[in-house]
Amino acid sequence: MNQVIRIHPMDDFKARSREVLNNPAQRKNFRGAMDFLQAKRRAQFPDAQELEGLRELGAAIRHYSLAHLPRLLEQLEARLTANGIQVHWAQTPDEANAIALGIARRVQAKKIIKGKSMVSEEVGFNHAMEAAGIEAFESDMGEYIVQLAGEAPSHIIMPAIHKTKQEIARLFEQEIPGVAYTEDVDALIRVGRRVLRRKFADADIGLSGVNFAVAETGTLCLVENEGNGRMCTTVPRVHIAITGIEKVVEKLEHVVPLYSLLSRSATGQAVTTYFNLISGPRQPGEKDGPQEVHLILLDNGRTQAYADAQLRATLQCIRCGACMNHCPVYARIGGHAYGTTYPGPIGAIISPHMLGLESTYPLAFASTLCGACAEVCPVKIPITDILVRLRNEAMARPDSDDATLRGSGTARTVANTAVWNVWAQVYGKLGFYKLASWFMSRGRALSPSEQGAWTRSRTPLVPAPKRLRDLLKERKP
Ligand code: SF4
Repeated sequence: MNQVIRIHPMDDFKARSREVLNNPAQRKNFRGAMDFLQAKRRAQFPDAQELEGLRELGAAIRHYSLAHLPRLLEQLEARLTANGIQVHWAQTPDEANAIALGIARRVQAKKIIKGKSMVSEEVGFNHAMEAAGIEAFESDMGEYIVQLAGEAPSHIIMPAIHKTKQEIARLFEQEIPGVAYTEDVDALIRVGRRVLRRKFADADIGLSGVNFAVAETGTLCLVENEGNGRMCTTVPRVHIAITGIEKVVEKLEHVVPLYSLLSRSATGQAVTTYFNLISGPRQPGEKDGPQEVHLILLDNGRTQAYADAQLRATLQCIRCGACMNHCPVYARIGGHAYGTTYPGPIGAIISPHMLGLESTYPLAFASTLCGACAEVCPVKIPITDILVRLRNEAMARPDSDDATLRGSGTARTVANTAVWNVWAQVYGKLGFYKLASWFMSRGRALSPSEQGAWTRSRTPLVPAPKRLRDLLKERKP
């Protein structure tokens, strides 16, 4: 039921953004939600020095992990295998789904219960399973709501943040038999819990994401608040975990600062309600736990980012969502307008590797470059520098040294090329330059005295300077 919306021409993105901008109620919801999340995060970091020290440490750990990624992935595979976890490698979303489907068919699974996993959204897991006749049911409350509504998540941490309690109440009333309309949030949660409990018991396979995979010990770490992650990974007889190849860290002690940064930056909690450490299937003599545990490690364009010294920093991300919560663009247009699994600033910098710059370049331009995202990023990803780089890539001549990514040069039009050719001529020859300067200084008088729409809609901090011509007029006796 979840949709993987593929974005394509720039017009689609603009149209979707315009739609939200013209919906004051939705804008108000988003503004309120973002203000709330920002305040919660701020309250968790009262000491600026402690925050900066922790961010430095987090960035260093992620940097170290990526610098040693090939070795750590090999070590992780060896350790997991020794622990009895079966490791699978997938280059593409189709390969990841085929691996999961192969496991499901072998164990004759009909029902899969899912914990929260953005990578499963990335690969279109639900679609793939449903096409094969297998039910994939979301157990995270937010994911359950968007699945029920036939929508995609609009935020990587809070998938249903775009919905009000009234909308959820109506949805439950319409979609769940015997449920009456109520705006009592606790009652709505109880409804979800009742539906989901049965699903855990009936599921053949539990699917989860992974927040950190520890190479030295072969441990999969899962951060969550609802307990559904623990249920998915322990109740069904088979557990499949799916994650991107970048989630590996070397040691368990590396997880501690990253976990602190993640929970405080994401939901403004000192710690989350649950923190799961999964290190293998059920052992002889144990009464519960899955009989099989699998890990699918997905590439899906991550190696393209990894190969580039600047863009590699994109993979430091720990998916906290703080960059979205602080982004003035995301706060106005919401997650669905982006049309990608990962919206907001992180989506703008990671999606080009997954889907190609040709279909995602508008997202790199959907930023004011105010730097709020980079300022709050707990692992210090230089998001704005990467956005500028992606803009350059999108505008690069396809055959030039600047075009290094899939889809580079897509945004470059014939008109762009003509303008830059003229610019090169003017600036390359002194005579042309002088002539152009002479014309341009005289042409100033032709510039409109009216301010543009963007400027008109803003409140100036200081009065706009008067134009020279007006001042001269005023000085005339
Ligand atoms: S880019 Fe930084 S702030 Fe954004 S989700 Fe990733 S870790 Fe969080």
